[in-house]
Amino acid sequence: MSDLDRRPAPTSGQTEPLLAVNGLSKRYVLNAGLWQRLTRKPELVLHAVDNVSLRIERGENFGLVGESGSGKTTLGRCLLRLVEPSAGQVIYKGKDIVGLPPSEMLAVRRKMQMIFQDPYSSLNPRMTVGQTLGEVLTVHHLCPPSQVKDRIQDLLSLVGLPGDATQRYPRHFSGGQRQRIGIARALAMDPEFIVADEPVSAVDVSIQAQVLNLLLELKAKLGLTLLFIAHDLSVVQYISTRVGVMYLGKIVEIAPRKTLFAYPRHPYTQGLLLAAPQLDPFHQTTRVAIEGEPPSPLRPPPGCRFHTRCYLANDRCHQEEPPLREIGGGHWVACHYHERSEWPPPIPGNAQ
Ligand code: SF4
Repeated sequence: MSDLDRRPAPTSGQTEPLLAVNGLSKRYVLNAGLWQRLTRKPELVLHAVDNVSLRIERGENFGLVGESGSGKTTLGRCLLRLVEPSAGQVIYKGKDIVGLPPSEMLAVRRKMQMIFQDPYSSLNPRMTVGQTLGEVLTVHHLCPPSQVKDRIQDLLSLVGLPGDATQRYPRHFSGGQRQRIGIARALAMDPEFIVADEPVSAVDVSIQAQVLNLLLELKAKLGLTLLFIAHDLSVVQYISTRVGVMYLGKIVEIAPRKTLFAYPRHPYTQGLLLAAPQLDPFHQTTRVAIEGEPPSPLRPPPGCRFHTRCYLANDRCHQEEPPLREIGGGHWVACHYHERSEWPPPIPGNAQ
């Protein structure tokens, strides 16, 4: 392990996190197989998540943002081992769950659930809502058979669906209602930790606030801890207490929500905020926030991965990868610029 791998995971200050991630990586070899071995061609490795360390405290709403392809969803899936990490640790309540045998992992996974982006494709169209929820309760022996119907009614009421929804199929519901079914299915396991992967990006804008408010309500009522993955900054700002920003498989900034949105320190975070639509006509910016396309995760640039698009990049950024360092108040940034005398960096477009 390098020194970077041993660096303590960024924390909000408490000592016993519900979940700690240390040096987590997920790589996919795209051309693996007999043909690649016979032809001895170099492996094409996609670095989806690269050496990420992170802590999520009990009861926290941790928001994870970044562009498409930044590795947010892969990281969320690695935490639940829906995707097996290539390296690193996922420590849940003090125990590393990477490498746990399936029998032990089953008990852990009951407490760690996922809400998927597309509620329609994550529900079986041939099963009624009652059958979907009943299957979860029965297969996992979560309540005696005589109590399954009552438990289903409780779950439906918890997510604001009518009791007669049990007889209907997913196609009979709107997008928002389907997402409520997905949430009820996750809650059926009585989880402690939920990864919500873009839970409102597939639902109508007018319904998004209802689903977000439902998640906040359930979190308070059931004492849940949330990892909320989204590309929409306004959604993350609404729901999160702490926010992490991902770029090309790396976490580049972590801060309490108010700090991040008021004082973004990483040039990528600044660019993301500038790219977000402004409702106030007197605070519009004309500058393009982040120029260019993200590099391919098959060939991530050396040094700082953001240097190909960064307006502050210098020679050092091209060669040396900046570690994630705390700059105070639970604010962590991976940028060499903070060592320069001009720190903090100007926010482009603010002067306009
Ligand atoms: Fe930009 Fe350099 Fe900071 Fe990377 S390390 S974000 S290239 S200033």
